Amino acid sequence: MEPQQPKKGPNEMYCSSCGAVVKKRAEICPECGVATDGAAVGVSPTTESSSSGIATGGSSSNETKYLVGGVISGLVGFVFLPIIFGPISLYCGYTVYQNHDETKGIALMAWGGASLVVGMAVGALILA
Ligand SMILES: [Zn+2]
Repeated sequence: MEPQQPKKGPNEMYCSSCGAVVKKRAEICPECGVATDGAAVGVSPTTESSSSGIATGGSSSNETKYLVGGVISGLVGFVFLPIIFGPISLYCGYTVYQNHDETKGIALMAWGGASLVVGMAVGALILA
C-alpha cells in the first residue's frame, strides 16, 4: 500500500528533481541542489476552471437577458405602443449583435423592426 519511495515525515516532502526526502521548509534540496517548489504545492487547478465558468455564465446570462427582453418588447410592440417597444427590441438586438451573437442579434433587430412597422400599421388601421 505504501509507494516504493523513501519514508518521509510530516514536515518533509519529496524533491521534485531527484525524489530525495527534504524538509518542507528547505529552499534547496541537499541531495541535488535544485530549489524546491514547496510554495507551488497547494495551488488547486479547480480555481481556474471555476473562475472561467463564472465568466462564461455571466456573459451568456446577459445575452439571454437581452434576447428575452428584445423578443418580449417586440411582441408587445405589435399590439401596444410600437413607437416605444419596437426601438427597445431593436436596441436589445443591436446589443446582442455587438456583444454576443451576430446571427441572433440580426434576427432580433429584424424582429424589433417588424414590430415597429407592423405595430404602426395596425395602429394606423385601428385609428383610420
Ligand atoms: Zn533533489
